[in-house]
Order: sequence, then C-alpha cells, then structure tokens
Amino acid sequence: MDAAVRRDRRWKWILGVFGTLGLILGAFIWWLPWDLTLSPTKPGLRRPDLLTFDQLSQGNPRILVITAHPDDSEFYMAGTLLRLNQASAELRLVVATNGDKGFYPFSDPAPLARTRQAEQTAIAKLWGAKDVIFLGFPDGRLHNGDELENAIKKQIEDFRPDTILTLESEHHRRASHSDHRRVGETVAKVGPTCPGVKSILFAETGERDLVVDISDLLERKFELLRMHKSQFEDLGKGRKDFVARIIRDDAEAAGKLIGVKYGEGFRVVLIPSASK
Ligand SMILES: [Zn+2]
Repeated sequence: MDAAVRRDRRWKWILGVFGTLGLILGAFIWWLPWDLTLSPTKPGLRRPDLLTFDQLSQGNPRILVITAHPDDSEFYMAGTLLRLNQASAELRLVVATNGDKGFYPFSDPAPLARTRQAEQTAIAKLWGAKDVIFLGFPDGRLHNGDELENAIKKQIEDFRPDTILTLESEHHRRASHSDHRRVGETVAKVGPTCPGVKSILFAETGERDLVVDISDLLERKFELLRMHKSQFEDLGKGRKDFVARIIRDDAEAAGKLIGVKYGEGFRVVLIPSASK
C-alpha cells in the first residue's frame, strides 16, 4: 500500500470518529432543556371564563391537593393554597412519593424521607391542610398503573373533594419531572370518575385558564419554601438564587396575564356531573 492510500485512509478514519462525536454532542445539546422555566409561557389566558377564583373558593369548598414530592405544594401553588385557606376552604394534602431523594440523590434515603415528610407536614399545616398523607411510593420512580391509580382514587373517594389541585399532566417530557407528570396523568384519569369532583386544576403549566392573584403572598411563599430546610439550606447561593428567580419569573409571567404583580396559573378541567 503506498503512502497516499494510507494517508487517505487515516483521514477518513479521523473524519469518521470526529464526525460521530460531533453528532453525539449536537444531539446532546439539542436534548438539554436550555430554556428551563417552571412553566413555558404561552401568551394570554386560554379560557378565562371557565373558572374564577371566586367561583373556586365560594361555599367552603373541599380541596384535595395531590402532588408528587414533599415541597411541590409550596413550589407550585402555595399562594393559591394560602388564599383558599383565607376563604375557609377545607384542605387536605396527598403526596405520592416518600421524598427519599430530593436534591441529594446520594444521601441515606430513610432518614431523608422522614425529615422531608416532617417538614412537609409542618409546612402544609401553615397553609391550612388539616391532614397530610404520604402514599409512600419511591421518589423519582413513579410509574403509571393500577397501584398508583388505586391509591389516588382511594384518597379522592375518602375526601370527596369539590376540586383537585395537582401537577400538569401534559408537559413535554423535558420540561418537567416525570413523577410530576405521572401524578398529573393519574389524577386526570381517575379524578373525573370519582363522585362529587367538579373540577381539576393543573399547576406548573403553560396552558393557563385561571391565574390566582398572589401579589401579597409571594414573600410568604418563599418563607414556606425555605422551611424545607433539608432541600434548601445547604444549596449554594447560586442555586438558591436560581430557584428564587425561576419562581419569581413564573409568578410575574402569570400575574401579567391578569394585570397583577404576581400570580399562580392553572389549567382547568371542569367535570360535568353527568359523566359519572
Ligand atoms: Zn417535585
């Protein structure tokens, strides 16, 4: 083989390797959720006539909050829950996982789960939850299926809420935690079949039908979040600021839709009573 052929082969080999690496890197960059926001904003309220906060909160409604992790209720709806409590709603929180992962996936799971559940229980009392129930599924590994459906259905039938507040089920897979989506999907499936449920509100959403004015409650929301000490106390300043910024940005974006400083947005599903 002469030198020219050998050189030619070497170049093909080098181009092949670097070309493949380039493609892998390009695919990885494409996959990364660079534009990380709590809820990718769509312009305007989708269907503002569907449900108002006054309609939601009138007549001491029973509100069941169903989330994935201990801290989701504060992250995505603390302001709304505080307002519902002020309006004398009857509130209960159900958390699907036991919280044994959190921000620190390599810490010992059992004590972390105990700590996070104690934190969540104490904080939920501050926004008015009379009961806090943990379904005990492993954190980060929720699966759709009979087990989760039956556990959630049992909680709905036990509490008989007028309204369920939960996490968005229709997110793009890169834009939210899979546990959140699976809780949302399960509630969307079983909620409408349970007697008495009139509406389901999905938080952490870009499809906002209802925005609740939380302008005077955002600082209280931050206070409640900070009480999840196992999650936030040891975070570096950069990450703490990042978390605060995405919450504030999201509240601002939602508030803008109804002309107030800060808001929390929900996608609303009304359930006709004839469907059960
Ligand atoms: Zn979560």
